[in-house]
Amino acid sequence: MKAYKNILNGVLVESPESFKSINPATLEELGSVPYSTPDQIDATVEAAKRAQKSWAALPDQERVAYILNIAELFGEHGEFLAELLTREQGKPLGGTGPQDVPGSRFEIAGCEAWTRIPANLSLPSEVVYEDDSRRDELYRLPLGVVAAITPWNWPLMIAVWQIIPALRMGNTVVIKPSEYTSIGTLEMVRLMADILPVGVINSVTGKGDVGSRLVDHPDVNKIMFTGSTETGLKIAARAAARLVPVTLELGGNDAAVVLEDAEPSKIAADLFWGAFLNGGQTCACAKRIYVHESIHDELINQFKTLLKAMPVGDGMKPGIAFGPLQNKVQLDKVVHLLDDAKSEGATVYEGYEPSEKNGYFMPLTIVTGIKDGCRLVDEEQFGPVLPIISYSNLDDVIKAANKLAVGLGASVWSSNIQRAQAVAIQLEAGTVWINKHGAVHPLVPFGGLKKSGMGVEFGVEGLKAVCQTRVITTFK
Ligand code: NAD
Repeated sequence: MKAYKNILNGVLVESPESFKSINPATLEELGSVPYSTPDQIDATVEAAKRAQKSWAALPDQERVAYILNIAELFGEHGEFLAELLTREQGKPLGGTGPQDVPGSRFEIAGCEAWTRIPANLSLPSEVVYEDDSRRDELYRLPLGVVAAITPWNWPLMIAVWQIIPALRMGNTVVIKPSEYTSIGTLEMVRLMADILPVGVINSVTGKGDVGSRLVDHPDVNKIMFTGSTETGLKIAARAAARLVPVTLELGGNDAAVVLEDAEPSKIAADLFWGAFLNGGQTCACAKRIYVHESIHDELINQFKTLLKAMPVGDGMKPGIAFGPLQNKVQLDKVVHLLDDAKSEGATVYEGYEPSEKNGYFMPLTIVTGIKDGCRLVDEEQFGPVLPIISYSNLDDVIKAANKLAVGLGASVWSSNIQRAQAVAIQLEAGTVWINKHGAVHPLVPFGGLKKSGMGVEFGVEGLKAVCQTRVITTFK
């Protein structure tokens, strides 16, 4: 079994203890991951701190060139990373284009796009005020060392979302991947470290205690965190104690509202992928669908046809559209929510029977005859079990969509764009898509409201989030 290593100041390091990474489709051991010791975590932050000043001092175009070289690595090593990702995360290899099943190759293509596009953005200083007597110029300067803490669902792409803007703006990074999906991230970071100056990118691995030590480290100047609301709240409290800025991308329970003028045959495929992308293990998936009673049955029929066309199995095998859930804890949680809905009398329709027996599989499932108040509707399932709620009164649906403590994404589906926009503006979510769900873009700010997060990533706004502002006021 291969022993994977961390990058500390350009050197691959092991730790006295390690843990195993498991293939969720086969339950085979993929390799061992070092469990970073407190001393190693401190040394890693120190290395990032040492490297930061010279990285920030590079001419902007040199940093851009480095980042564009990172973008190239996703082409050169894309297939290697995609296979590792499928083995470790579980999503199928799939393809990259809109006609293909979105899987690991799609994630790697996302890594490349979210590297190349920020590389070409910049935040030059701006004159914010000027008159005869004074000139006020605002600079966006790096913060220093950025800690990046990632989840297991899109492990490489989310890491890129955190790492690349931070590097672009002259920060150095220490990344702590999820303990469930460390290997793919370690390999990606190793490839990045081969390109970058020593100490600019570093990694530590382990469970929450490793992330927690990073959060508390006095030389960490910014925390980028993507994961559960529960952990995000803890991190926000710790960071507040040191007055360190955080960007938090947390859980959601996105509502999709299908108006009666939507055409089920036209929207079904987009709505399906908006709900089931990565087997529902996506932060901004549609996690509860409200559909007008007049088109409910027709939409359900469309969904049943789609479910029947999606083979579930080991994502390394050709023709597989959906892999397993990533880990046992998540599988148990989703099964539990489904059992709860069944006990309340909901109707359950299951798609393809998984072709493998060993892994953390369950069929794609839709649940009807279900209402708000049922746990499967009110809680984030983060898996392939989708509640579809029939409604008659739109105002009630808007209230239901907004009643939860989270507000990451939402969507409205209609053939009347103006009407959809009028509904969209009433939905309490960081992004509301019309006739799509979860369609993030590298130039469009993305973040959650309420307990779904704090701050935004992507685009120029995302760059601002990894900078400090400094104003220089000159009197003439
Ligand atoms: P998690 O909160 O359990 O873990 C995320 C990361 O935080 C892991 O690396 C973990 O080791 C680390 N961690 C745990 N405790 C910590 C602590 N006290 N201090 C510092 N780090 C700690 O989340 P998860 O189960 O890996 O991810 C699933 C959740 O992430 C879902 O709720 C999902 O909606 C959310 N998510 C949100 C987005 C978004 O952009 N908003 C994207 C993906 C996933």
